[in-house]
Amino acid sequence: MKFDAALTQEADTTARNHLLQHFARGDQQEDLCFALWRPSTGQERQTALVDEIILPLEGERLLHGNASFQPDFIARSIAHARSKGAGLAFMHSHPGHGWQGMSKPDVEAERDILAYPAQATGHPLLGLTTGSDGTWSARLWNRANSGMSRTWCEKTRIIGADRFNIHFNDELLPPPRRRDTLRRTYDTWGLETQNMLSRLKIGIVGLGSVGSVVAEITARVGVRQITLIDPDQIEEHNLDRLLNAAPSDLGRPKVELAAEAIQRHSTADHVTITALNNSIGETLAYESALDCDVIFSCVDRPLARDVLNYIATAHLIPVIDGGISIELDQRRQRFFSSHWRAHMVTPYNQCLRCSGQYSSSTVVTELDGSLDDPSYVRDLPPEAVTGNQNVFPFAVSIASMQFNLLLRYLLSYEWWPPISRFEHQFITGETSTADTRCQPHCSFQGRRALGNSERPFYLQPPTPEPPTPPHTSRVTSLLTFVDKIWKKVSR
Ligand SMILES: [Zn+2]
Ligand SMILES: [Zn+2]
Repeated sequence: MKFDAALTQEADTTARNHLLQHFARGDQQEDLCFALWRPSTGQERQTALVDEIILPLEGERLLHGNASFQPDFIARSIAHARSKGAGLAFMHSHPGHGWQGMSKPDVEAERDILAYPAQATGHPLLGLTTGSDGTWSARLWNRANSGMSRTWCEKTRIIGADRFNIHFNDELLPPPRRRDTLRRTYDTWGLETQNMLSRLKIGIVGLGSVGSVVAEITARVGVRQITLIDPDQIEEHNLDRLLNAAPSDLGRPKVELAAEAIQRHSTADHVTITALNNSIGETLAYESALDCDVIFSCVDRPLARDVLNYIATAHLIPVIDGGISIELDQRRQRFFSSHWRAHMVTPYNQCLRCSGQYSSSTVVTELDGSLDDPSYVRDLPPEAVTGNQNVFPFAVSIASMQFNLLLRYLLSYEWWPPISRFEHQFITGETSTADTRCQPHCSFQGRRALGNSERPFYLQPPTPEPPTPPHTSRVTSLLTFVDKIWKKVSR
């Protein structure tokens, strides 16, 4: 299993305001605090999701160049984590820049003092260090044969309303070698952005007209890890709008064709493709999506959009959705109008349900099979009927809009206006932008960063986790350890 950490923008801001306050005043004083984290478990990666910070109360920590915590602060934080069913994270600051290593006192504090009592939460301790430049480094402390063993995270992701910050552990995930193939790409957005973009694991769900073009863009810009998810095979009526498809490809899975094209067209030094001929509503595909850092939603079905809505909000994996509406003049049997849009979904932007991309009732309709029943579909409102409408020239435009939204979030400067949606009207030729929020009381707002505990009801239960030790023994061991710490600190 690989590990990552992800912070919401609010957690990042609250923690940095506290931890970096002394540096901001020109003082070299470090600081500390605790936080809660929740697991998001994919096929190959577990992400520790951090949304709630626990700041010290008066007298709960001591500042002496380094910083140390009082046992009361540990006990209060662990009790709070237990009451929320979350794990314990310890955060502290360093004056340096970039991904931070650990000093001997850092290791002693996390491994010898905190890691064991943190197990009382049922989760390992997450350690996080922020440099004065705001770069987060992270590791998990798991129980091993002899004591506690540290596993470094590959990266930390900070998910905001209008920008993403991703910090990499260069040892585990080194930046790619500079390649001449990408010279024009470096010239356009610089080496730093390219090193970030190429190391993201990008998921593409739906490999039809839009998804096949998104896959091509992703390959051309040198992304190294790409996950493709689509349950369908290529049919004759796909040939007018599926990039790279030829009559000889009929009957092949769409993901297979896309994977082949990516392999051929990739500009990355080494590309790894995971191609799943499954629906995102199946456990394997769902969990593989949870391994991604960003997901392009190129689907046209309500159930897939519902799953992706959970992933974007509960698992802090931004989802960039694209959609099109084509209206026909029924009487004359010809084109009437069309508009299409691309839309960024994070816990801070409007979710797919609030933006009208699907409704919960159509998810149920899809589950019971009536979405495939033509007599039922005839009675649905036009916005509920999706799919099989797109044509290649429109699809290419949607794919481009979707990828440009990702670039915007990676490149974003503070002074850029927040934009989470582009919408293009074919008739007027206008492209409008918006920064939209969920409707009041949207249930997805309450799922922010909750990870595994928020799962669509129709998905199979996850692979069972190994049993945790009984409740009482954990409480006893917690108390013994708090006692030991108290002795250690007061010695
Ligand atoms: Zn330190
Ligand atoms: Zn919503």
